Amino acid sequence: MMADPFCCKFMTDYLKQKIKHAPRTPGVYMMKDEEGTVIYIGKARDIRSRIRSYFGGTDSRFMVPFLVSRVCDIDFIVTETEKEALILENNLIKEHRPKYNVDFRDDKAYFHIRMDLREPFPRFQLVRRPKKDGAKYFGPYPSSSSAKETLRFLQPIFPLRTCRKQELNSRKRPCLEYEIGRCSAPCCHLIDAAAYEGLARDAAAFLEGRTKRLLVDLRDRMKNAADQMNYEAAAVLRDRIVSIEHTLEKQRMASMDARDQDVYGVYREDDMTQICAVLIRGGNIVGQKIFPLIRIGGETAEIVSALVKRYYDADAYIPAEILTPVAMEDGAVIAEWLTEKKGRAVSVLTRQKGKGAAILDMAQRNAENIFRTERLARDNPEKTIRILAEKLHLKNLPVRIECFDISNIGGRQAVGSMVTFESGLPLKARYRRFRIKTIDGADDYGMMYEVLKRRYLKKDDLPDLLMVDGGKGQLGVAVSVLKDLAVDNIDVIAIAKEKRDERDDVLKKGPFQVKKDYDRIYLPGRKDPVNLSHWPATLFLLQRIRDEAHRFAISYHRKLKEKQDLQSLLDEIPGIGGVRKKALLKYFGDAAHIREAPQETLQKVEGIGKATAAQIYDYLRKQ
Ligand code: SF4
Repeated sequence: MMADPFCCKFMTDYLKQKIKHAPRTPGVYMMKDEEGTVIYIGKARDIRSRIRSYFGGTDSRFMVPFLVSRVCDIDFIVTETEKEALILENNLIKEHRPKYNVDFRDDKAYFHIRMDLREPFPRFQLVRRPKKDGAKYFGPYPSSSSAKETLRFLQPIFPLRTCRKQELNSRKRPCLEYEIGRCSAPCCHLIDAAAYEGLARDAAAFLEGRTKRLLVDLRDRMKNAADQMNYEAAAVLRDRIVSIEHTLEKQRMASMDARDQDVYGVYREDDMTQICAVLIRGGNIVGQKIFPLIRIGGETAEIVSALVKRYYDADAYIPAEILTPVAMEDGAVIAEWLTEKKGRAVSVLTRQKGKGAAILDMAQRNAENIFRTERLARDNPEKTIRILAEKLHLKNLPVRIECFDISNIGGRQAVGSMVTFESGLPLKARYRRFRIKTIDGADDYGMMYEVLKRRYLKKDDLPDLLMVDGGKGQLGVAVSVLKDLAVDNIDVIAIAKEKRDERDDVLKKGPFQVKKDYDRIYLPGRKDPVNLSHWPATLFLLQRIRDEAHRFAISYHRKLKEKQDLQSLLDEIPGIGGVRKKALLKYFGDAAHIREAPQETLQKVEGIGKATAAQIYDYLRKQ
């Protein structure tokens, strides 16, 4: 028997009336507290019956009693279809960020490869977030290193320019990239525009996983070139075909239906939920997306549904197939919505048997593993620290750890970072960043030496453990700095990422082979690195600290680079000499403010007339 919705002790007469007259159509409902703040937004096929389930005790989610005790009013928005309701619900949640809706905000940025095929002589670019700017985005890649590795093998096969537009237009001779076969030198017209365009399109096809068709096409073109006795062009195409085949063979992951899939794993314990998605592109596992561990009750299907809607609404790449561990009630509506968004068929399914079930199982185990390591490190930092001291044979218990990283591009805007963790937690007040002062050029060891020396010169407030991001080389630098400064009683380690091909247990039966990142720990006086993978919580702690140092260094480096880029941009504006540039900087403070200034404000600067202001404004907008 259905519970009486009107027995709920929280119901006011006003609310009872409102629910009684709620529409019986698809739409969105917005629950508000006594101050009129929206505290929950949901969508339903039948609004009235959905609302009744909250107040009638038939909704068993743990947050429902708290929610209904605060609801004073409900607004309804009727839609034609459930799909419209879903889109509206997503938009409204983004706008209001209601307290009781699950917040799947994920600040971790993933990497994408961007190609704008509309620009003359397109190139690969590594970016964090895709924009709706008409360019093509490939990925996501779970780390910058995996995206860079893809570019490393792509660049010789598809030798697109690596330089910026300005350099492309101003070079008189090709740069080193051409010499080493990584660029076809459009700057000096060593490739014609049509051939270059073909090259860029082939690269995009490859990144989209359309390798089969690409190879057929390349073979046709090679044959045509040979028929026309253009043996040089035929040889270039032959080499490209061989490289692509070699790469595909090396990856040996031609799996399933070579489709793009996101496969979700969910692990739940008590009221904590860990979700991850295994990312498969063109049949290859390219990584996984880990969502933050959240405290939430309720049905797994509902949680996954909420996450999927938020994730793909936020410009994430939409694959052809989404596999979830449980069937979602609104799976068909989500598929319809995503199909429309992508412009191609998207299916949202679950699988009970076959390869689909195996990969779902793998995602599931990944989620469990992530949960365990995350929780272990969070719940028991003392134990983690003790194990760390024991396994690495440290002199001290590493309660306070300082970790260093260097960030630069070819030695430019070189910076160093230091992050401090105490008892497993970041101590942000003790973070430091360093602008490299004594090293010119790409000398990472020299930079590390400078940073460590500046930090430990005063010998105050020393940590228990000093960690550097890198291998034996960086470790050697750290040891010699401490020796030069006569600082003892600090343990020193280095953490280095290494790659290894490995088959996944479940997928041993299938053709999958995945390239996994392994972190190795180097210790002074020991030839071989230590493998901490059997103590995941300790490894996880060190990885977390290293990633934080990396993030901190990169963000500082990026800030300096942006500043520098903007300064150079000012130098390039036609008709703006030193005096006017100085006046602009004096008025606005920095180049970033100049770029954002409206034309009218630019005009206010001494020596900048209407025409010059328009010229500056147009130039900066174009860039
Ligand atoms: S060879 Fe020319 S086009 Fe290619 S990266 Fe160098 S400067 Fe740019």
